[in-house]
Amino acid sequence: MATLGGYIENFGSLRTDKDRKRWSVLTTHQAPHKPFVLFSVMDLMAEGVIIENFIEPSLELLDTFNRYWDRTMPVGSKTTMAYPFPRLRTDGFWHLIANRGFENQINMEFSSMSRLRDVCAGATLDPELFSFLMNSESRERLRAVLVTTYFAPEIQPILLEQGQVNLAAYAYSRELIIEAADGSQTWNERETPVAVRDQGFRKAIVTLYDHRCALCGIRMLTPEGHTVVEAAHIKPWRENHDDRPSNGLALCRLCHWSFDEGLMSVGTHYEVLVSRRVQLEQNLPGHILTLSDRPIFYPDEPVFHPSLDNFEWHRKTLFRS
Ligand SMILES: [Zn+2]
Repeated sequence: MATLGGYIENFGSLRTDKDRKRWSVLTTHQAPHKPFVLFSVMDLMAEGVIIENFIEPSLELLDTFNRYWDRTMPVGSKTTMAYPFPRLRTDGFWHLIANRGFENQINMEFSSMSRLRDVCAGATLDPELFSFLMNSESRERLRAVLVTTYFAPEIQPILLEQGQVNLAAYAYSRELIIEAADGSQTWNERETPVAVRDQGFRKAIVTLYDHRCALCGIRMLTPEGHTVVEAAHIKPWRENHDDRPSNGLALCRLCHWSFDEGLMSVGTHYEVLVSRRVQLEQNLPGHILTLSDRPIFYPDEPVFHPSLDNFEWHRKTLFRS
């Protein structure tokens, strides 16, 4: 079994849900969950995020899984990586590790990521398979097996492209963080495709803010593992094409909308400003008022702080005091 040929066979015959009522021809009438987990593992290995034979059900893996799902499955369809992650054990090469005290629950089904993470520390792969996946050539051969076995020809290029975007977006997010950490004062806009830029900027900002909204402080993940925060530009991208962390904020949807509409801003001491209009107009969410003058949340390291100059621009240009 420990040959590449053996794993090619294994990847081509995963135990999947084959309910034809649920799964269309796009996914060859099978549930695509397990291939999506394996694509995500491969991407994190290509990025250098997974370097040891231990795969955690991390937010990073989950985010990658969700991207594959959202890119190819019908709009509005929901799932959670908590289903396939433990079930991959039935395919022989994936070995679950329980958290201490949860050994007797490791073979259960999980309906949420938080429950899965309570019980399961992660999984190891057969050592031979781990080596094959760490090698880019054999990894891409195994990826191709999954793509051609479980997906219709029309979505195969989309899946391959998403893998490329994931890799490039990860590299872009690292560049944004490393350049800021180095104290670089200049910003050189790259020739970067929009999909890579958006995903990379979001990844950098959401990571730096640890999924917390800078203005209201909410930090929440849905059972599917979707984070409530988005990455926002303080000065909109169209103004100066600036993706540096000093021009970014992690914001929940309500705060993002309020910030972009000029109903909220940030003052000279990093305090939340709320427009008087929120008080005057009955149909605006009143609880925003309670945030007024509270300090905003931002990363600890000064090099990643949002820039006061950018906030000044926002107050002068967009804020409706
Ligand atoms: Zn918020």
